[in-house]
Amino acid sequence: MSDTNSNEKAPINWTPTTMFVITNLVAVTAVPWYGLTHGYSLSAVIAFVLLTWLTELAITAGYHRLWSHNAYKAHWALRLFYALFGAMALQNTVLHWSSGHRVHHRHVDDVDLDPYSAKRGLWFSHMGWMIR
Ligand SMILES: [Zn+2]
Repeated sequence: MSDTNSNEKAPINWTPTTMFVITNLVAVTAVPWYGLTHGYSLSAVIAFVLLTWLTELAITAGYHRLWSHNAYKAHWALRLFYALFGAMALQNTVLHWSSGHRVHHRHVDDVDLDPYSAKRGLWFSHMGWMIR
């Protein structure tokens, strides 16, 4: 335990909070409306699936295994691919993500020291840490 009072809440970080609010409002309103009024082309569906898969790959294999855990070495072109598609996943920069993840592993589930501690609740461990 540290001297930090875990009941104190950090101030809201308005940049990611605004981004999450806007993108989620668009996702639950404009995206279904567009699909109902215009439909989605096959190429749009394929692009959605492909980009979802590539961004997940960049976070898992790049941000997590390559940069956070140094699990392997990668050619500069693969690192560039991971950095670009990881940024497209809107999970912050490689440096910020990897730094936070290393701190998380060092202090897993410590309420004060783990930046994503599950002991601070389901909401906090998945979303709350990004907006505070
Ligand atoms: Zn990890």
